[in-house]
Amino acid sequence: MVIASMDKLISGIVDFRKNTFPSRREIFKKLAMGQSPDALFITCSDSRVAPNWFASTDPGDLFVIRNVGNLVPPHTARPLDFSVGAALDFSLTNLNVGDIIVCGHSECGAMNTLHRGVQNLPNTHLKTWMAHAEPALNYAGPTLHIDPNLAEHNQISQKNVMVQIGHLESNPQIAERRKDGKLRLHAWWFSIAEGGVYALDHKTMRYTLIDENLDAETISRLQNGLPFLKTLS
Ligand SMILES: [Zn+2]
Repeated sequence: MVIASMDKLISGIVDFRKNTFPSRREIFKKLAMGQSPDALFITCSDSRVAPNWFASTDPGDLFVIRNVGNLVPPHTARPLDFSVGAALDFSLTNLNVGDIIVCGHSECGAMNTLHRGVQNLPNTHLKTWMAHAEPALNYAGPTLHIDPNLAEHNQISQKNVMVQIGHLESNPQIAERRKDGKLRLHAWWFSIAEGGVYALDHKTMRYTLIDENLDAETISRLQNGLPFLKTLS
């Protein structure tokens, strides 16, 4: 089994070198000189979430933080999480990104675990980590109009994205940049079965499917990102 999966990876690399890379040689030569990504994309480690695919992006477009549950520890959390903190610092200070997207997803194992109760987990790193998502269970943020047909764990997942947006807001560097109009925050959610990405529209407080039917006004709102959460009811 292990050999079969490694075989698939190795064959894929050979195929990329032979069939894809030659036509993209110039792009990679340019990328080797440095990166200037459009956005910081924070999403789950889940293997089914592939932002380069569903957002049709190229190498160099997105600076990515991936972890279990797409979590951002609050700025005041102790112990400090150096991994997420360092990636935030780097993307803001070195790359000067103008947009941060938190993207949750359907059928998230982390959200399922949260729904079932993290107290049932053995005393592991996972249990400690999931504490950063627990506010999603008794969500107290701005009112969200979530599709009631969604399974409970998917509703929790959509609330969790907003909890993490709140955690980003707790970072003074982020707050400062947003106040100066240099940074925008976005709450997104990927539905695996639909291959659809939903973005939270702060006018309706609904996750709205991003597709060709969006009107110009909605697109503009989604591009401009969310206002400070405390200004939303
Ligand atoms: Zn997940």
